[in-house]
Amino acid sequence: MRRRFTHVMCIRCHENETPEGRPYCIHCTFAVRAEVEDGLRRLTDYLTAWAAFDQWCASRTRSAAAA
Ligand SMILES: [Zn+2]
Repeated sequence: MRRRFTHVMCIRCHENETPEGRPYCIHCTFAVRAEVEDGLRRLTDYLTAWAAFDQWCASRTRSAAAA
């Protein structure tokens, strides 16, 4: 059976061939992984800030109700 895509280029750099069934070449696999990890860290910081804001709002509601 003839395979249709024997030489698939990396979708990120468009310069290197990818391992079979993978979208990125070896170099870009590590680069994308680092970008994803950085994005998750930033998302965690963002959600942590929202959680703190939510707690602050709840504490203000409680103190307003007690007054
Ligand atoms: Zn690449």
